[in-house]
Amino acid sequence: MSQVQATERLYYDDATLARFSATVTALADEGRIVYLDRTAFYPTSGGQPHDLGVLADMPIVDVVDEEARIAHHLAQPLGLPVGAMVIGQVEMTRRVDHMQQHTGQHVLSALLADRYGWPTVSVHFGDSASSLDVAGVEGLSTDRLVRIEHEANALLLENRTVRVSYEDAASATDLRKASDREGTLRIVTIEGLDRSACGGTHVARTGAVGAMLLRRAEKTKGHTRVEFVCGHRAVQRARADADLLTRAARPLSASPQDLPVLVEQQGQRLTELEREHRRLQQELARHEARERWAQAVPDAKGIRRIRLTVDGPVKDAELLAQQCVALGACLICVTNTHLGGVLLATSADTGVDAGQTLRAALQAVGGRGGGSPRMAQGAVADRERLADVVQALRF
Ligand SMILES: [Zn+2]
Repeated sequence: MSQVQATERLYYDDATLARFSATVTALADEGRIVYLDRTAFYPTSGGQPHDLGVLADMPIVDVVDEEARIAHHLAQPLGLPVGAMVIGQVEMTRRVDHMQQHTGQHVLSALLADRYGWPTVSVHFGDSASSLDVAGVEGLSTDRLVRIEHEANALLLENRTVRVSYEDAASATDLRKASDREGTLRIVTIEGLDRSACGGTHVARTGAVGAMLLRRAEKTKGHTRVEFVCGHRAVQRARADADLLTRAARPLSASPQDLPVLVEQQGQRLTELEREHRRLQQELARHEARERWAQAVPDAKGIRRIRLTVDGPVKDAELLAQQCVALGACLICVTNTHLGGVLLATSADTGVDAGQTLRAALQAVGGRGGGSPRMAQGAVADRERLADVVQALRF
């Protein structure tokens, strides 16, 4: 009784089998893990994700390949004993999607190896996109990617048959990649294109892959990764792209075709406007500075002290402060009572080092700040002490 009973893999010979009956051969995890004498559920393996569906009306959450047996993980305990007969129902939308991605990958790998000399070194089937890593690529431009995409779709359209056979490892020839397994190999043959040892599920003819979209190619360590989507996914991706373009075009009252030119034009316009905005800000600051400088009363040494309080950060007054001290014989102190910020700017002819002076005044009250001899900024820790700082700066 202790001997493990292997699970017969029904998906090996019929990838379209959705409904099957089987006998429970063992249970684990209080009935949440179920072993059967045979199954149509594909376990995660060879890069292809596992199937979903129901077993005796219980949802399947995972299917694990344990070599001899396949473990069906359920959301809840099965509630039936060993020996019970159960019905399994594979969720075919998900399965067919995997069959399309997987068969598409065989075609793409064969094309890249045979016509371009780039062998596939690894494959990844993802929830949204899949990818394969190829070796030996020298420059894969967008133009070339589009051409490969065209060639791949032409191959799919030839509707070549995809056939499964079992051959002895010792005598199996013309395999894309020599298998390191011994004994019987499951070989998937795409008519006149590819022979690969593979345990996955595939469509019966390449036409059923539908279409293939190559999303992009990027360099990874030592290889080039090509991202692809097949079948319904390709249509969904194209639909999503079209929706994105339509949404992007709407605020511009443009059609998606005009977007590239329009976006570039708008970018240029924005740059021009930003430049103009900066110029006007400078001009405004120069104008305001002249006014404030003229209004300030010079002291005995002819030095003017401009005192300013702002609502926003004192940093925003930098431009104005620069313009004030540019007029000469001038010191300007800007504060923000709410934020406790303080800015000090001085013209060189006053002999006052803004950085040193402000730092000393702030340190005396536990504040922090500093800057260059001409422009300095800082803040007090306690806003109540801001008046002390201003007084120490002799404003
Ligand atoms: Zn395969």
